[in-house]
Amino acid sequence: MPPMDQPVPPLRARLRANYLRDESGAVAELLAVARLEPDAARRVQERARSLVENVRTRQKAVTGMQSFLREYDLSSAEGVLLMCVAEALLRIPDAATADKLIRDKLSQGDWEKHVGRNNSLLVNAGTWGMMLTGKLVSLDAAEAGNAGAWFGRLAARAGEPVVRVALRQGMKLMAEQFVMGRTIDDALARSIDGDNKAYRHSYDMLGEAAFTAADAERYFVAYEKAIDAIAAHAASLGPGLRRGDSAVFAKPGISIKLSALHPRYEYAQRDRVRSELIPRVQSLVERARAGDIGVTLDAEEADRLDLSLEIFESIFTSPALQGWEGFGLAVQAYQKRAPFVVDWLADLARKQRRRIMARLVKGAYWDSEVKRAQMQGLANYPVYTRKANTDVSYLACAAKMIAAKDAFYGQFATHNAHTVATILERAGKDQPFEFQRLHGMGEDLYEQVVAAGHACRVYAPVGSHEDLLPYLVRRLLENGANTSFVNRIADPAIPVESVIADPVATVAAQTSVSNPKIPLPAALYGDRVNSSGFAFADEAVSAPIVAQIQALAAKNDFGQVPDADANAARSALDRASRARIPSADERAAMLDRAADLIEDDRVGLMAVLAREAGKTLPDGLGEVREAADFCRYYAMLARKHFAAPEELTGPTGESNRLQLAGRGPFVCISPWNFPLAIFVGQVAAAFAAGNPVIAKPAEQTPLVAARAVRLLHEAGVPEDALVLAPGRGEIVGAALVADLRTAGVAFTGSTATARAINRALAAREGPIVPFIAETGGLNAMFVDSSALAEQVVADVIASAFNSAGQRCSALRILCLQEEIAPRVIELLKGATAELKLGDPARLDTDVGPVIDAEALAMLEAHATKMDREAKLICKAAMPKDAGALFFAPRAYEIASLDAIDREVFGPILHVVRFHSSDLVKTVDAINAKGYGLTMGIHSRIEDTIESVRARACAGNLYVNRNMIGATVGVQPFGGEGLSGTGPKAGGPHYLFRFATERTVTVNTAAAGGNASLIASSE
Ligand SMILES: Cc1cc2nc3c(=O)[nH]c(=O)nc-3n(C[C@H](O)[C@H](O)[C@H](O)COP(=O)(O)OP(=O)(O)OC[C@H]3O[C@@H](n4cnc5c(N)ncnc54)[C@H](O)[C@@H]3O)c2cc1C
Repeated sequence: MPPMDQPVPPLRARLRANYLRDESGAVAELLAVARLEPDAARRVQERARSLVENVRTRQKAVTGMQSFLREYDLSSAEGVLLMCVAEALLRIPDAATADKLIRDKLSQGDWEKHVGRNNSLLVNAGTWGMMLTGKLVSLDAAEAGNAGAWFGRLAARAGEPVVRVALRQGMKLMAEQFVMGRTIDDALARSIDGDNKAYRHSYDMLGEAAFTAADAERYFVAYEKAIDAIAAHAASLGPGLRRGDSAVFAKPGISIKLSALHPRYEYAQRDRVRSELIPRVQSLVERARAGDIGVTLDAEEADRLDLSLEIFESIFTSPALQGWEGFGLAVQAYQKRAPFVVDWLADLARKQRRRIMARLVKGAYWDSEVKRAQMQGLANYPVYTRKANTDVSYLACAAKMIAAKDAFYGQFATHNAHTVATILERAGKDQPFEFQRLHGMGEDLYEQVVAAGHACRVYAPVGSHEDLLPYLVRRLLENGANTSFVNRIADPAIPVESVIADPVATVAAQTSVSNPKIPLPAALYGDRVNSSGFAFADEAVSAPIVAQIQALAAKNDFGQVPDADANAARSALDRASRARIPSADERAAMLDRAADLIEDDRVGLMAVLAREAGKTLPDGLGEVREAADFCRYYAMLARKHFAAPEELTGPTGESNRLQLAGRGPFVCISPWNFPLAIFVGQVAAAFAAGNPVIAKPAEQTPLVAARAVRLLHEAGVPEDALVLAPGRGEIVGAALVADLRTAGVAFTGSTATARAINRALAAREGPIVPFIAETGGLNAMFVDSSALAEQVVADVIASAFNSAGQRCSALRILCLQEEIAPRVIELLKGATAELKLGDPARLDTDVGPVIDAEALAMLEAHATKMDREAKLICKAAMPKDAGALFFAPRAYEIASLDAIDREVFGPILHVVRFHSSDLVKTVDAINAKGYGLTMGIHSRIEDTIESVRARACAGNLYVNRNMIGATVGVQPFGGEGLSGTGPKAGGPHYLFRFATERTVTVNTAAAGGNASLIASSE
């Protein structure tokens, strides 16, 4: 197997080249493969109709989960609320928070309208606890909006514990619908019970991605045990073979999630994945082979596809598996690469002269794939944007697999009757294949299919309720979505014809192939182009870029920028004062051009960012994108507000116009931590508002600044209208600020320097000028016990340690509710241990160096103090070849918030616990520190989120996500109190602060009277 960075064989190269394929071209090709002859298409319709009609007849009598899901689907507010309860309730350790969650969600829904609407036991018999609430307490309208009041009344009658227990019971019932058993032994026993006997099974050990080495080890052991148990169980079953089957096809098997077996199963860490994950999976597969039970690798996110294929190939071709057909993988049809994956697998199977068990699925992460592509500014989506396109892709991939009999044992996983009918039409009579469905779904459909003699396997999740939650959410989304087949088949209001519509015909009839409601990531904002990014996992695009950056970074030949002195600063002001400022439209066009040039120079900029500022590759890409976004956003605002005067309403006979104009030379003083994005953002704003600019970059990062200025000049910004004045703050900055010609100052940096500038400006004679300061923060995140610990830790690591903690927005104080603290701290330790420090130009580096020796000494001094006064929770490993400027990210537990009262700019996190009743007090204590930049809250309880929001003195509050990486125009950035003056950078009000306002009033009736009034008076 060639390692990834070696030349790749053509089929694999083709696969990679189609990561973000144009949807129209892709679908046109798929249609040709998926289309059936008219007679065959008619037969498919008939079969699908009969399947659907039978399902509907049965479902009339059916109670239970399907009818429950129909009643509470995600189009109803109550369905969404239930999903929220289901996702969180079972994992909340303390009664107080569980009750709060219940109060929060139950008070919002209109539960009474569901009573009596449906015969289902589940819906009506009080199983859900809300029914219990409905019976015990009738709400009046005033109380309905007041959770506290009605819950208090309910609790007074029934007691909170009763409600809580009833609801937990209800949630467990729902969970059980989708789980085969709590343990593998339970599940195996259930698999031969009653109707289950008619099916094969593939067991899935529940649990999501491993965060820590310990998690991965725990999952590994669970898989080993499960394999042994399944193998023993399989030996006790009859052969169950069909013609053409390998013995292993008929047996139960296991499904494996690669993300559960390694804490860093990601493209950037592929060397580690190769050396650590492949041997683990190999050992599990060999164990399965010894017991002759099948193993299938689940398919996960699109950016893991290529890596999963490498792992599959390595193991499939290993000598230990020769001659055995029990190893397979899932292929997601919603990915544009799917048909190429099928071709590549067929080739691999043929070369190895044995079939691959290939499970064809549509895909379970569609919504998150779309969101990620938009956030990353990808050129296109890795998945289709219309459901029918995914269906056509599935049918085309199925057709390819069925045609490649020698290469595949097809495992068609679907609950869609039309899809099932098409497979039955395509597959030859004697062709071995099986269907697959998820436990708890599609029983009515497959009862008919299995009765007709076709094999079907059930994907059977095994695990505790706590482990089930993320899986459950995916299933509820699938069941609740109104595009989903299981939802549509259950809704009697949807005609059968529409349920069984042939996707090939649907797609052919579409006026646009892609979904117009899901614009391409570049077109997300409508009024301006989104900056373009790329996925590092998109190897065909990223590998050449990364190689070029590394070559440039290795050469480290970015020129030199000599420091200016006070005289040079003054002559910069001379030049700027003489500058001719282009019109607003011209300025906007220049900034749009600058954005394009910045993006074109991505490689050079990322290389110099890595070398001069220690920026990792993802951080560098983020900066390039942000800089381009600033240019386009301010260009958009300049056109909107500065190009033409605003007409104001007034008395007749008069015209009143308000015009915005530049103030004069603006000094922009920027920091080293965002040497490109903040530098360009300030300059672009000041220029967009009509000012000449003198840009004073940080002493540490003049090369990035000089490169950015060159690009802005190349874009047309007159050289006099943007003058670079690099040099020391005390000399160049001070001279610029003191000069009376300076008509305004924009500054980002420390609070102390901001104060010094403010004093200097105040001491000047002459006009009082605007001062826009963005300074530091003592940023906190609050986590209550309804939060998901894994999600919290991922966001904490990103917020506290990305960019070596050298972001103003970075998380400094993590406030954990006591009950969740032990779990979060344990995960934090494990996740910190996985961080890799090193050369920022390497893709596998998570954390680069800190900016300079002074910063390092400050961090070391603070760490020494914390070592004495606080408890060290964890510390990342230092690289062996550590340069002088590395500082290992670490976290300390502090006894109280008194232990910290100033910003420590680097990767040191402080953790403090709070009692559940003290959340608001804790927020107040953070507010009292005087900063007000970013804050975070992780909670599933709206009421809790709202109480933090109402209290928080912070410019940017982030809920259930990380706290860094504000996007221009989306999360305008900037704080209050000690954190800055506002207005927010990248926000709609920013440019106004750089401008002056002039009104012009014209008495239009002065000469000749008010002709227009007379003309329009009747
Ligand atoms: C045995 C088994 C194993 C599975 N293993 C995996 C796995 O390893 N990895 C995985 O990701 N999933 C897996 N799944 C889940 C599977 O992806 C979903 O169950 C499946 O997508 C549902 O398809 P369907 O044919 O039953 O339903 P349908 O309702 O016909 O299709 C629903 C699917 O269409 C797609 N879709 C919805 N809206 C759009 C849109 N606007 N544009 C484009 N596409 C859209 C989504 O993928 C959605 O899941 C597995 C399912 C089964 C049955």
